[in-house]
Amino acid sequence: MRKPIIVGNWKMNKTMKETKEFMEAVDAAAASENATYGIGAPYTALSTAVAGAKNLIVAAENCHFEDTGAFTGEVSVPMLQEIGVTHCIIGHSERRTMFGDTDETVNKKAKRLIEAGITPILCIGETEAQYDAGDSEKVIRDQLTGSLADMCPKCVGNMVIAYEPIWAIGTGKSASVEIAENCCRIVRDQVRVMYGDDAAENVRVQYGGSVKPNNIQEYMAQPDIDGALIGGASLKADSFIEIIEKTK
Ligand code: PEP
Repeated sequence: MRKPIIVGNWKMNKTMKETKEFMEAVDAAAASENATYGIGAPYTALSTAVAGAKNLIVAAENCHFEDTGAFTGEVSVPMLQEIGVTHCIIGHSERRTMFGDTDETVNKKAKRLIEAGITPILCIGETEAQYDAGDSEKVIRDQLTGSLADMCPKCVGNMVIAYEPIWAIGTGKSASVEIAENCCRIVRDQVRVMYGDDAAENVRVQYGGSVKPNNIQEYMAQPDIDGALIGGASLKADSFIEIIEKTK
């Protein structure tokens, strides 16, 4: 039985002060035996988030795959480990399109995080043009082939994979429940092809793309959707609490 996991992605939002206020408002609501709730915060807010998290899990939004070196502006996995984050989002489409992340670098990040005991939340998903061309399945399978290359089946089974169609991120144009379920099923099938049944049955697959309090339940009711990665609706304490309450 896979435990659902719902994670907010704050992107480049929230100061330390705002983070403290959010944790004070939301953390108690996140106490649940049945599901895991968390937030992805910018680097500068991570320590504050960890300090305020009794129930929420805290994720970084990126990492570098090298431990040290001449990589100005980057943050390594040991640095995140020291802060106490347990999860890290990697390969978000904004990082792939604006900051040069590729399946190859995302694969290196995933491996380094797993070695450190931090759970990667690997993001994949097609562009609107790829969707319109009917290429969603091919894009999903290709991204997973690269991003999950040469890993151990158990490691992949312990990961979280977020299927996020780029055309649904921050647009208010969420994927239909049928599309989301079908693509999350393809994600699981590709894990099965690469790493076998156990990995496929254990890996948790999230849908992401304009998830809100008013549509979260329909996604969560699908057999291959084990959670959500949520941008805009995770920023306000009220709406994130509403999402938590609706999925407990
Ligand atoms: C995201 O940032 O990963 C995301 C899904 O954003 P939103 O929920 O705002 O579409």
